[in-house]
Amino acid sequence: MSTDTSPDSRRAQDLARLDELIAQQSKVFLDRTTESQRIRAEAGSVLAGGVASSWQDTQPGTVWIRTGRGSRTWDVDGTEYTDLHGGFGVGIVGHAHPAIVAAVSDRVRKGTHFAQPTEDAVVVARELAARFGLPVWRYNNSGTESTMDAIHLMRVATGRPKIIKVEGTYHGHHDAVQVSVYPAPELAGPADRPNSVPVGSAYPRAVVDLTVVVPFGDLAAVDRVLTEHRGEIAGMIIEPVMMNIGLIPPPPGYLRLLKDLLHAHGAYLAFDEVKTGLALSPAGAVGLTGVVPDLVCLAKALGGGLPCGAIGGIPELMDLITQGAYEQVGTFNGNPLTMAAARAVLQDILTPAAYDGFEELRRTMADGAEEILRRYGLPGFVRSYGCKGAVLFTERLENYRDFLAYDDEWGNAHWLYQHNGGVFLPPWGKCEQWTASVQHTREDAERFLANLERMAADLRGGMRPQEAAA
Ligand code: PLP
Repeated sequence: MSTDTSPDSRRAQDLARLDELIAQQSKVFLDRTTESQRIRAEAGSVLAGGVASSWQDTQPGTVWIRTGRGSRTWDVDGTEYTDLHGGFGVGIVGHAHPAIVAAVSDRVRKGTHFAQPTEDAVVVARELAARFGLPVWRYNNSGTESTMDAIHLMRVATGRPKIIKVEGTYHGHHDAVQVSVYPAPELAGPADRPNSVPVGSAYPRAVVDLTVVVPFGDLAAVDRVLTEHRGEIAGMIIEPVMMNIGLIPPPPGYLRLLKDLLHAHGAYLAFDEVKTGLALSPAGAVGLTGVVPDLVCLAKALGGGLPCGAIGGIPELMDLITQGAYEQVGTFNGNPLTMAAARAVLQDILTPAAYDGFEELRRTMADGAEEILRRYGLPGFVRSYGCKGAVLFTERLENYRDFLAYDDEWGNAHWLYQHNGGVFLPPWGKCEQWTASVQHTREDAERFLANLERMAADLRGGMRPQEAAA
């Protein structure tokens, strides 16, 4: 074994050991998910790539789910998991919550679609207005539609074509935002002045050039863009707490100053709260930071497991819809089944007591994971808010360039250890975070911590924790 104890040598040793562990754990994974792999292979002849969405095509193999109940899911091989995947952040009410089952069962008997509004749409809008401090709302059917509506509204209001977006955020798969999501380092350009890099070749250059990219947390970069593109920027869309490259909170004061800066240039600020909304606090990042933007985009958790989307805004913007200047439409907008579920989510499930429960669980998971990292001398730290959190096995994570420098092996090994130990995190590496639900318990948190500790012990090769940390 090397006697070199420099940080570079330690990192190289860790990565070599992580590669070994990933190989071992991948084998364990594949051996116990044979039915999933069989279905996947068969599905390839009728489903493009053998899956329903490209993000379900994951390493080391796609897991097919049969059932979900409470905090748990069961796959087609019969394995039970503590579900911290949460269906990419949807599942904060857990599976088959009695209030959702009741609301949806009641509604399904009365008809599920009319393309005419039902009264629940008003109740849900009132609840959202009260939480987010934005008075007027509309519905759509996904996070993609929600951020698309936000950008359209900012363009209509200003008559300007361009928007600002943060490097490394995902806002859905429409043209304006499929720019610099995970740009390759060789294409990304200078860190303080990133290039606008399209995600593949589906997005024409002329469209991509309308999206100007800035680093997260960098007000000077936004100021520069607003000056260089004077009179052309309609607004900025931002995930106020970044959740696509681990978990990154905004620097103190950043969001408030950002709003002022954009307004000073006649531009608007839209929060993409598709993941953060309802999860970080009763009013998402708005509640956490106290900053109310011009527009809030919601989806995911709002529907309690049904497809959903919503956009709320200041009257100045939402009136454009009322006046017909922006035609905000969709056959399934305000779908009765979704509205019935959303009403139950907001009125019956995500109560103040639910957020107390999230906080207790968050502390157990975050404190426990921090303690394991320290005890075994692993690099990194934990970030967590509300029912979300992530173990970040890196020294610094403030923006996309830090994310690029964060070795993939950590997230991949951690995912495998959790999965093989009966905890389903979002696939498969360092990008995502856990989502707990109102139905998760201390037992779920302890299972998560036990798996993390197993990985730490294997990584440190059976050394006693004190020796490992030395
Ligand atoms: N915005 C954010 C922050 C997201 O994480 C996602 C999806 O993961 C979206 C938008 C797009 O949402 P959807 O997949 O519902 O279109």
